[in-house]
Amino acid sequence: MSDNRGLDDAPAIPDVDLTRPSIARVYDYVLGGKDHYEIDRQVSAALFNAVPETSNLAEDNRNHLRRAVTWLVREAGIRQILDLGSGLPTAGNVHEIAHAADPSVRVVYVDIDPIVLAHGRALLDDDDTTTVITGDVRDIDAIFADPAVAELIDTSQPFAVLAASIFHHLSDDEDPYAVAAAITARLSPGSYLLASNFLDDDEPRAKALEKAFLEGGLGTGRFRTWAEQRRFFDGLELVEPGLTYANDWRPDDQTPTDSPTHTLYAAGIGRKA
Ligand code: SAM
Repeated sequence: MSDNRGLDDAPAIPDVDLTRPSIARVYDYVLGGKDHYEIDRQVSAALFNAVPETSNLAEDNRNHLRRAVTWLVREAGIRQILDLGSGLPTAGNVHEIAHAADPSVRVVYVDIDPIVLAHGRALLDDDDTTTVITGDVRDIDAIFADPAVAELIDTSQPFAVLAASIFHHLSDDEDPYAVAAAITARLSPGSYLLASNFLDDDEPRAKALEKAFLEGGLGTGRFRTWAEQRRFFDGLELVEPGLTYANDWRPDDQTPTDSPTHTLYAAGIGRKA
């Protein structure tokens, strides 16, 4: 990946600070994408140095997200999706996965990073089922008050909220459990909350990556225990097979069977009765 110079030679994007790494861009680089700068590649190198299998971690998460969105649309009948901390467009975007099952599914992407808005708008220019907005998951009220959300998501009907790989970027002081509770309070009966988070299953790689996140200026990358992650689903019924290693959640023939990061990610989906 060292030949991948990403956006270094591209025109500047307003509000994007090239001197500080961004989680969205580092994640894109780790997944083999092209939306990153030198600072992001430097931080990624530190992550790879701490845990050489860091790409597998990101790939396990994307694979879980693909299966989960497919299940939500095909099996659970969901037609509206709010994707929090959606990240940069990448292979197999949520709206593309959903539309493969039903092109009428409405999707709102929300991310704090201005580069996600810039790239998302370009991608979604001629798509009236899907939009992208800037928002901070620490302020769920503001996200639900955004006119774009009101336009595409009818919260009196079942919908799904995706919190894939976002709660681990909130520190305990930022209280992701309160964020999950605020989301759950907004869910109408028959709605779903997906949560996936780095897993602290008592192995040294978890601490090594947490440290590399902090030292690299990426902020929080908090590995949480099974008991901590169960709290995301308070007030919800966990869909079978429950909160599991991400690769064990309804695996299919494209799910890695021998991922070296199998025990570093947990995921589940809860349903509001
Ligand atoms: N959800 C996608 C996935 O699972 O593939 C992307 C996950 S990426 C690891 C985390 C994303 O969360 C980044 O795009 C980052 O900009 C965004 N993010 C971090 N903190 C956030 C916050 N407080 N509010 C909204 N988005 C945030």
